[in-house]
Amino acid sequence: MNDQFIQLAYLVAAVLLIRGLSGLGSPKTAPRGNLTAAAGMLIAIVATLLMKGVVSYTVIIAGVVVGSTIGAVLALRIQMTAMPQMVALLNGFGGGASALVASAELLNYMREGSEPTGIVPTAIVLGILIGGVTFTGSLIAFAKLQELLKGAPLVYAGQRFVNALLSVALVGAGVMMVMTPLDLNPFYVVLCLSLLLGVLLVIPIGGADMPVVISLLNSYSGLAACATGFVLGNSSLVISGSLVGASGIILTKIMCKAMNRSLANVLFGAFGAVDQATAAGGGSTDGRTAKAYTPEDAAVIFSNSRSCIVVPGYGMAVAQAQHAVRELADTLEEKGISVKFAIHPVAGRMPGHMNVLLAEADVPYDKLVPMDEINREFPETDVALVIGANDVVNPDARTDKGSPIYGMPILDVDRAQHVFVIKRSMNPGFAGVQNPLFFNDNTMMIFGDAKGTVLALVKSVRDLV
Ligand code: NDP
Repeated sequence: MNDQFIQLAYLVAAVLLIRGLSGLGSPKTAPRGNLTAAAGMLIAIVATLLMKGVVSYTVIIAGVVVGSTIGAVLALRIQMTAMPQMVALLNGFGGGASALVASAELLNYMREGSEPTGIVPTAIVLGILIGGVTFTGSLIAFAKLQELLKGAPLVYAGQRFVNALLSVALVGAGVMMVMTPLDLNPFYVVLCLSLLLGVLLVIPIGGADMPVVISLLNSYSGLAACATGFVLGNSSLVISGSLVGASGIILTKIMCKAMNRSLANVLFGAFGAVDQATAAGGGSTDGRTAKAYTPEDAAVIFSNSRSCIVVPGYGMAVAQAQHAVRELADTLEEKGISVKFAIHPVAGRMPGHMNVLLAEADVPYDKLVPMDEINREFPETDVALVIGANDVVNPDARTDKGSPIYGMPILDVDRAQHVFVIKRSMNPGFAGVQNPLFFNDNTMMIFGDAKGTVLALVKSVRDLV
């Protein structure tokens, strides 16, 4: 196929990818944005397959069939609550693929006895380095989210020093590789050290800091693809890789802001170290006990209320309670109670998790209020209804310096007149710490699965209010 035609197809693909990304900026345009980007990717793939350099279609078709089958089965079988693990795994595979392609190109140069020139040796090193770190780092993130590994940060004495030393050694080996591209030894060192560094950089991160690391690994996977695009001289891969890299960095910045961490703090790891007393689930409960209410009791309080802010969290996703929550909001509004939804940026287990679930249940977008805005409204609100959220409403984040979530901005539900918390038990959330909110005088626990409990609340409110 004519090279100019392929470059034109790549240009069209790049425009579609950029338009698709801009569509993802709002929930209304997101489905169309997704389709536009997918069309761009299809055009890029077809154009690549039509290139003169393709040696064997048999291997490519076999790869497409096996990969697509595994991907389709995984996508169909995966629970919505396991999406974050899936995203971590996909980031890792993206990074691993980039490292493999860059390595294969290097071995190809060696086999042909020709030396790569210009930017290519540097791009090969970056492809292997960033791809390797992304691959093992994402596998560790996957294992933590899947609870195969303990979610808490794994820290040891001298950790930062070891990581810094490894990074310096890695850069040194990378420079050697650029200078002597046909020498296998620095290649092996770069490959092994980057795989090791991926593990070591992610193990000290845990608990509530995981959203930051996931978006950062997402960005790394794009940067690795971009580097590999330079290795192959493929403009489409350079553009799509840099789009993923840049959007991942933007997301990382948003997540850092949400967690009140600096990016440097994230990059150099070892943050989120836990005060042992707090980690054990202690929390500042001061010997107080939590009060258990039934949905019928709660309905009585609703009958005297004018305003309610619903705070959804991970438990709403587990219980798939979003439709029941929508029904409750409709019922309360029918009774003249104003209802808003407070959205914390890291609620759930992936960026935008609550927005996606509530959009699925057709909750109007204008009812979803971001944290900074809604926090001003809690003191004037009659009822804050927390549904399966825990860490994002933990007041210790404001006051307890020993808490692993200290400094994370939270939703100030404790400042509302009455607080109802729907969850199944007194178990802690993702960060593994107890929540003093549950023991406050104005907090009432309604124990049970979120979906069943919300539906019972709907019935009680209808019967009573
Ligand atoms: P949490 O993980 O803090 O708490 C969720 C609560 O939901 C638990 O305490 C649990 O209590 C309850 N729950 C679980 N299942 C059900 C159910 N079926 N019905 C009712 N309740 C249930 O969630 P938050 O949303 O408050 O906070 C998110 C946490 O996850 C933060 O620490 C964040 O940093 C972290 N994280 C976020 C990511 C993101 O991108 N958003 C990615 C990775 C981590 P019980 O067992 O008693 O029911």
